[in-house]
Amino acid sequence: MKWISHNIMGFCVPYAFTGDWMFSLVSAFAAVIPDSVEMALGFSFTEHYVPWGNVQRGGIFKHRGILHNPIFWTLVCLFFYGAILSLIPDEYKGICASLLLAVVVGIFLHLAGDVMTMSGVPLNLTGSKRMSLGLFRTGSLCEVAFVVLFILLAFGEWIYYFMVQSYK
Ligand SMILES: [Zn+2]
Repeated sequence: MKWISHNIMGFCVPYAFTGDWMFSLVSAFAAVIPDSVEMALGFSFTEHYVPWGNVQRGGIFKHRGILHNPIFWTLVCLFFYGAILSLIPDEYKGICASLLLAVVVGIFLHLAGDVMTMSGVPLNLTGSKRMSLGLFRTGSLCEVAFVVLFILLAFGEWIYYFMVQSYK
């Protein structure tokens, strides 16, 4: 999935369920973390990272390797969730817990987005076992259609309301 699609999905899914702008915005930003960390560490760099075209550059490690593994992220999130919350003073615990939860939601929505694509995400360390729904290719029109579905999921009610209003 393209970054812009990850951002939109990262916003729309939590927004559809919670209606919470703040939570959804944090999740939208967090939704590119797996690719950003991959890129920062010099992992391979593909069309994935730029919304406007196909830039292919080599890297030391395979793109969508360990940093797209759901087990890896579960362990990382549990560790940080526990570590950060145990260090934070009690009065800030509530807000920090919900911000961290939004980050975790964003990260897992990234993985969910990539699971829908042909190449999927790895289930083991070598990446030989992968999980993929094979619904579309990254950057395809079909991906755009899914993004539109997410937007409708979050804002369908508003869009419907404005359309009805404009006919009155
Ligand atoms: Zn990715």
